[in-house]
Amino acid sequence: MLAHRPIYLDCHATTPLDPLVLEAMLPYFTEQFGNPASAHQYGWEAEAALEQARRSIASAIQAESAEILFTSGATEANNLAIKGVAEAYLAKGRHLITVATEHSAVLDPCRYLQTMGFEVTILPVQPDGLIDLDQLTAALRPDTVLVSVMAANNEMGVIQPLAAIGKICRSADVLLHTDAAQAIGKIPLDVKAMQIDLMSLTAHKLYGPKGIGALYVRRRSPRVQLAAQLHGGAQERGLRAGTLYPPQIVGFAKAVELGLANLETEAARTIALRDQLWQRLQVLDGVHLNGHPSQRLPGNLNVSFEGISGQALLLGLQPVVAVSSGSACSSTRTQPSHVLTALGRAPELAYASIRFGIGRLNTAAELEQVATATLDTVRALRTANLASDLTSAR
Ligand SMILES: *Cc1c(COP(=O)(O)O)cnc(C)c1O
Repeated sequence: MLAHRPIYLDCHATTPLDPLVLEAMLPYFTEQFGNPASAHQYGWEAEAALEQARRSIASAIQAESAEILFTSGATEANNLAIKGVAEAYLAKGRHLITVATEHSAVLDPCRYLQTMGFEVTILPVQPDGLIDLDQLTAALRPDTVLVSVMAANNEMGVIQPLAAIGKICRSADVLLHTDAAQAIGKIPLDVKAMQIDLMSLTAHKLYGPKGIGALYVRRRSPRVQLAAQLHGGAQERGLRAGTLYPPQIVGFAKAVELGLANLETEAARTIALRDQLWQRLQVLDGVHLNGHPSQRLPGNLNVSFEGISGQALLLGLQPVVAVSSGSACSSTRTQPSHVLTALGRAPELAYASIRFGIGRLNTAAELEQVATATLDTVRALRTANLASDLTSAR
């Protein structure tokens, strides 16, 4: 047994592997070890498991098996989608559109393309974190090749209106990519109804293994062209070279199946836990919810606390709860969160924020403990700040 550890409330950074997922993966490490590209019994067995997994993941988003390319995760899927489309559609233009609150795995490939002579429009968001659809429409140009808007935000959980965005992009004949790393298995996704052309997925935010993800690439009306970003083999129709990894892929599919089977009950349960925590925190003055109050991921609560430093709050909470102030990928940076500043939050408030990421294993009793610890720590920090203000005023 591990020694007592803090309550885990950082489910937007990663989640523990579901034991059922591990069970599904295990045979593919040992007996069923074949290379799915091999033309013999061992290869065929691996290939069969892989195709079963591909079907399962495709059906979760209303896609076809042949439209799913496996990647090492959402970062790679985003890179392949953005750079792959940019390169394949050079004859149409060199303009892309994305949003200020995107994950760095979208923003950085876009910035890279800027250095290569592409133009990128970065749409602002409204104070609730949603994009303005009129602004999107106005930003579209004849030379626009791709719009990339995330399904659900990894810091404040805000869910963008994908169906409306899809409609706008389709009628302008512009491809739509969405980073659905946080959304898959948490909220319904339908590439047909939402008119999405490319979608990035990952397993490890959904109780699956790390290091595996997928890119959905539409094959029909329209057929999306993509330039490979990784060369070296004919795997994944030549679009992503490298030996496929059956244990991870089987685990990814199992995680998606479990997520989908329990989507509604789990959403209701985590919303109740989140609301319980938010209600407790609101006894304090000067607390602000970041992002839209209801158009957000069930397990996400992102709160700014006036008059304290977020770093001090995180430090005070460490023995009780494992949380982050924002994206795990930027938690070592000293800049305030680019997501919260995009909402128009002052830097002091963006610094003084906590992202609570509630998941499948959390209980109401844990949330009570977290609420109490947060209230105590915020009050103690505010009292200490007040005392030092008084001392320095004297
Ligand atoms: C976690 C995350 C990623 C990165 O996914 P990996 O599979 O870890 O590469 C990308 N986008 C969003 C929104 C995420 O939350």
